[in-house]
Amino acid sequence: MSDVPTYEQQPTRTQLETSLVEQGTYQGRPYAVIADTVFYPEGGGQPSDRGRLNGIAVIDVQKVDGRIYHLLETPLDSGPVILELDWQRRFDHMQQHTAQHLLTAVAADQFGWQTTAFHLGAHVSDIEVDVKSIGKSELRLLEETVAVEVRAARRISARRVSPDEYEQMEVRSRGLPPGHSGDVRLIEIEGIDLNTCGGTHCVSTAEIEAIALLGTE
Ligand SMILES: [Zn+2]
Repeated sequence: MSDVPTYEQQPTRTQLETSLVEQGTYQGRPYAVIADTVFYPEGGGQPSDRGRLNGIAVIDVQKVDGRIYHLLETPLDSGPVILELDWQRRFDHMQQHTAQHLLTAVAADQFGWQTTAFHLGAHVSDIEVDVKSIGKSELRLLEETVAVEVRAARRISARRVSPDEYEQMEVRSRGLPPGHSGDVRLIEIEGIDLNTCGGTHCVSTAEIEAIALLGTE
């Protein structure tokens, strides 16, 4: 197995055949560790994927001590493991997550508002920025500025760099996760943003389709 799972190398891939590494029980549920996966484990504000392993529902996907636990409805039989990803759910997460990168970059660079938190929900997502209040006209201006960048169809790419290279670069980051070692994964929105992230992203800002800013509090 490569160190880098398939969900990271090929974020649009929905099917994979692999092998079972280990099974057990975690927090009262059967789990499976498999040799490779197209399932994203919850992290960095992006929820975990759903789908099936050999037709068995995947209820949650979590990183536990650096390994990816697929929490299952029932245990797997021995033999090859066929993965099927719930693409509709994943693509929604990719759009919302990529939208957050874009919104964060525009809010910081054009308005001076730094992002402090993000929550991705099934119907509405929210983003926290360090400003006391945002007026209606400012909110409209932010929405319109972001829309320009969606229409610009800016290319989005992912790459890994060594810790030394990372030190030399101008990267927008809220810091690496505790205990991080080795290569650093960077996500670039061409001309707008370079950020550390382990999530899954659209290939272009156009794939976000639209961002509506519904209100502030
Ligand atoms: Zn990301």
